[in-house]
Amino acid sequence: MNISNNNSEKPKNKRRKCAFFDRDGVLIKNYGYVHKERQIKFLKGTITALKFLKRQKFRIIVITNQSGIARGYFSVKDLKKFHKILDDKISKKKIIDKYYFCPFHPTKGIGFYKKESKDRKPNNGMIIKAVKEFNIDLNKSFMIGDNLTDYKAAKKSGLKFYYKKGCLLRQVKRIVNN
Ligand SMILES: [Mg+2]
Repeated sequence: MNISNNNSEKPKNKRRKCAFFDRDGVLIKNYGYVHKERQIKFLKGTITALKFLKRQKFRIIVITNQSGIARGYFSVKDLKKFHKILDDKISKKKIIDKYYFCPFHPTKGIGFYKKESKDRKPNNGMIIKAVKEFNIDLNKSFMIGDNLTDYKAAKKSGLKFYYKKGCLLRQVKRIVNN
């Protein structure tokens, strides 16, 4: 008798695939130190791409350097408020699982915020944190960025990387369907 008992195979803590994104120049237009609602301009295909990935069961994580905080242009509180506004504009539902941001800058920072950080891209501290926090399977994941520092952070993590190119929806569909 062959009683199928798949309990041992049941993936209780199944690692999840994840789409990592840089924020400025990838999801929204980069005006430099963007932190105000009126500066929000979603790039072509951003919202549909994020919703598509959500339907495909991807975690969605933003990895962003925010030295504007170090430079005193805006506060952590301002940034969190800004990300909440972004979320609300994307959907009523939660689409972006988390924004990881690095507020530090090694030379331009003021006071507490002037320091080297393992989080600041090209370092990959934020990616490492996300992988732990969201139980991410890096082999099934990818990152899209628009900067050499994004590329370097992804490569350090063993993460597939693509430079942002054209419509984000078309790009992620190409990646996912490959
Ligand atoms: Mg960028």
